[in-house]
Amino acid sequence: MEEIKVTNLVKFYTLLLLKRRPMHGYELIKELERCMTKNISASHVYPFLKTLQKNMLIALKESGKRKKKQYKLTKEGEKLAHKLINRFTEMVEISINPRIRACAHCGCKIASGGHRERIKNVLLTFCCSRCAASYRKK
Ligand SMILES: [Zn+2]
Repeated sequence: MEEIKVTNLVKFYTLLLLKRRPMHGYELIKELERCMTKNISASHVYPFLKTLQKNMLIALKESGKRKKKQYKLTKEGEKLAHKLINRFTEMVEISINPRIRACAHCGCKIASGGHRERIKNVLLTFCCSRCAASYRKK
């Protein structure tokens, strides 16, 4: 399987929208236009859908009386979409809040406050004093 490169927002949104529900090509383009508030050309969407299909990340299913074809994420496609969302969430967190720290013991995220303590001459940040105590015992 070749690696799928999600190099632009159209591709990113395509996966996110299909994660929400299966869609016809035309429906997908309309939704993309709504999300991105610009005109989307079919030539930006269909080649990517083809690539996804070739790599078995999406499947076509027929639905309705007129047997219109809907694109649906496969299990692998779901995984890819999930990975992208996580990566994107991290990016957003870093860009909007550079002050977010991770607890040195449990790794949970601390947006403000927390507990600071010098252990073996290093000033560390913890979410609470109990985490600091557990860390000291390590
Ligand atoms: Zn902690």
